[in-house]
Amino acid sequence: MPIYEYQCRDCGEEFERLVPLSAQTPPDCPKCKRKNVRKKISRIASGKSGCGSCSSSSCSSCAPSGHS
Ligand SMILES: [Zn+2]
Repeated sequence: MPIYEYQCRDCGEEFERLVPLSAQTPPDCPKCKRKNVRKKISRIASGKSGCGSCSSSSCSSCAPSGHS
C-alpha cells in the first residue's frame, strides 16, 4: 500500500496518508478539514532494503551494481 504525501493549499499543512489503491478521492486536511490538498510524492511503504536479491539491509554486494 503506497504512502502519499499531501500538502493543503489552504493552510499549508503537510501530512502523509496510507491510501488504498481503490481510493479515488483525496483525504481532507487534518488541520482545517478541507479537501483542497495536492499530492506531493508517493513512495512504497516497504522501507529501505538492499538490491532485492538478499534480505540483508547492509549487504555490501547490493550496491551499486548489485549481485553478480
Ligand atoms: Zn488545511
